[in-house]
Amino acid sequence: MNIDAHLAPYAALSATSQGRRFAEPPSSSRTEFQRDRDRIIHCAAFRRLEYKTQVFVNHEGDLFRTRLTHSLEVAQIARSVARNLRLNEDLIEAISLAHDLGHTPFGHAGQDALNACMRDYGGFEHNLQSLRVVDALEQRYGAFDGLNLTFETREGILKHCSLKNAAGLGTIGQRFIDRRQPSLEAQLANLADAIAYNNHDIDDGLRSGLLTVEQLAEVDLFARHRHEVEAAFPGISGRRAIHETVRRMINALIVDLIQTSAARIAQAQPASIDDVRSAAKLIAFSDRMRQDAALLKRFLHENLYRHYLVNRMTTKARRIITALFDAFMEEPILLPPDYRLPAGQDGLQARKIADYIAGMTDRYAMREHRRLFTVEEI
Ligand code: MG
Repeated sequence: MNIDAHLAPYAALSATSQGRRFAEPPSSSRTEFQRDRDRIIHCAAFRRLEYKTQVFVNHEGDLFRTRLTHSLEVAQIARSVARNLRLNEDLIEAISLAHDLGHTPFGHAGQDALNACMRDYGGFEHNLQSLRVVDALEQRYGAFDGLNLTFETREGILKHCSLKNAAGLGTIGQRFIDRRQPSLEAQLANLADAIAYNNHDIDDGLRSGLLTVEQLAEVDLFARHRHEVEAAFPGISGRRAIHETVRRMINALIVDLIQTSAARIAQAQPASIDDVRSAAKLIAFSDRMRQDAALLKRFLHENLYRHYLVNRMTTKARRIITALFDAFMEEPILLPPDYRLPAGQDGLQARKIADYIAGMTDRYAMREHRRLFTVEEI
């Protein structure tokens, strides 16, 4: 039986997978990409996503998105689009659930701080770290480090990469050097990520009171759907009106993405994943929707991500990460033994410390900070 018979010829197919780094016998009950998805769900880094910041720190409220719920929303959006385009839903789910595994505590503030700490040692980039988690850091299998995922899942996790970093990554980095595209599933996961965070950040921004509906009236995409909701349900207000608006925005983005991508695929007529890799980007929004989404993104940058109350948390996060890194670099004897190296290997020691800090949840990082700098805490 051909398990991929329902997929388009340009989808990532199990039969044409470039395989795993360490060969393994096939599963009797699952496709290779299902297996990747299952390995991701069972790994420790995935469970930590529950306590890592998306925008709001975990203890600020129980209803805000975390990296875990964000990743689930990305997977849900990506699967909806994938089914319409007859792409591989198992692969897209694996990529979506793994795409943020390398994120530090405290969201982008944490990553920027850790990157600054690692300036002299090759820097820190969360996307590259996600690949490092699944390739090396997870320790669950007897035969290899990491999760030994398929090439296609790893390719999807590595969304972007500098040429300098790509050169050190072997086959997985080659497409950045050759300027080729990844699978359609990888292209789609990237845009599903943006649909998810733009919309849930509006929702969380309003919930927190840092954004107001009046402010959002300047964002065309929001205003259009808000008017539609008010016309359909006169007198509607509060959370119900917000939810009705945001769900329509998500739907509009998804429908546009399906239609635009289907048209581009029909025009390029890729006959296989190889054709996809050498074609232009085929998964895309229409020009108008891309502009609308860019305006929304800019609005969120100016009004939410740089809100003074968010800045306060961002600054605290930077101080915590920097203080932890400096303390461990100065005195590696403070590190758990697994993360400690013999003296004289500063570069490798710094990378170990970055791995340790990046793996922390928000609350673990806060507790570790107290343990190191507060006499009362042990
Ligand atoms: Mg994401």
